[in-house]
Order: sequence, then C-alpha cells, then structure tokens
Amino acid sequence: MPIAICCDFDGTVTLSDTGKELLSKLTTADWQAIDKFVIDGQIGTREALIKQWGMIEHTTWEEIFNIVDTIQIDPTFYSFHNWITQHNLKFLILSDGFETYIHRILRNHKIDSASLNILANDVELINNKLKLKFNTQVCNHNCANCKYSVVQQLQREGYSIIYIGDGLSDILPAAELADVIYARRNEDLAKKLQGDSRLKIFDNFKEIKEDIERNLL
Ligand SMILES: [Mg+2]
Ligand SMILES: [Zn+2]
Repeated sequence: MPIAICCDFDGTVTLSDTGKELLSKLTTADWQAIDKFVIDGQIGTREALIKQWGMIEHTTWEEIFNIVDTIQIDPTFYSFHNWITQHNLKFLILSDGFETYIHRILRNHKIDSASLNILANDVELINNKLKLKFNTQVCNHNCANCKYSVVQQLQREGYSIIYIGDGLSDILPAAELADVIYARRNEDLAKKLQGDSRLKIFDNFKEIKEDIERNLL
C-alpha cells in the first residue's frame, strides 16, 4: 500500500505556533478564551479564527512579517524534506494557519516551498484589517481547513496514512483515520491519544525519518 505523510505545520514543523505568536503580539484581547470554546466543542475552528483574528484592530504586512521572521523550524526538518524529495514520498502539509506565512517561513529556512503540497487557509489585508480566506467551503465540523476531509480522501484513494502533528486540529484526523501517528512530545495530540497503539512520540524529524525507514518503507 502506498503511504501518504500528512503533516501539521505550526508547532510541528515550527518550534512555536505562528498564529499564537501573531495574536499575542498584535492584540491585547483575550483570544485564548476562544480556544477553550473549540476544545469544549462549542464552536468550530472556522468561527474561532474569525473571532480571534477579528480582534486585531489594525496591522500591516511589515508588522506581521517582523513577527513571522522570528519563527524557527525544527532544525532536522531540512534533511527530512530532502529525504522526502529523494524518495518521492507523498507528503502534504495540512495547516489551520495561513499559506502566506508558511511559504515565508520555509523560504527563510532555505526550503523550496513551491515544491511542497501545502493546504492551508490564507489571509488578505484590507484597510489594515485581516480578511480570512478559508481552505474548506463546507464540512461537518465547521473547520476553517478540514484536515479530516483531506486525510479521508487520501485513504479512499488507497493510501495508508502517516500523520504528524501536535495540536487540537490534529486529534480528529489522527485518531479516526491514521495508521501511524507521530505526536510531538508533551503537546495536546500526544496527551489526548496516550495509550493508543498507533501513537509514537517524537522530539524531532530525524527520529520520524529513521522510524519510517525502519518500520514503514
Ligand atoms: Mg500545530
Ligand atoms: Zn472538518
């Protein structure tokens, strides 16, 4: 069975969550409270993102990129990406963040982002207010970008699913659909799926590469 590697971006490829960094620095409003509604299942990520990014009254691309340019990636992701390319493995980045900053962060770290399959939301700036562009039109969970639907489609196409992630938006697709799950140590995904036989904890992408080579190729 061919494998598809589905990988979250923020907090998984990057060492901190870009969205949270931006919100923390661009608004003093209580955007964290909205995350709790998502965790409790009261609202979907689509509504959450509208509420949270709407809290930023005024910003500029310069201000945004100054923050984005401080974001670091897992130093072992660079060689992981080369390895994926050399072996021609199917690899997708699935993110509830924005494509513009994802490409920028990867380019900042000398990774050719144009060659990557990235599915994410995006954002425009109109009169210094953010306007969101969601990747998903409709889904059952009111997602901004429905990772579940993408992974389910790959599974229907006959791929076995390797899922790499860290956070809340990874729990549903990983728990319901993945064959193997790599979860960043001590984060929500790892905690939530504790005891699941498919779960492997990782600290860096070198470990994931070695484990896939050893057990899955
Ligand atoms: Mg994440
Ligand atoms: Zn969904």
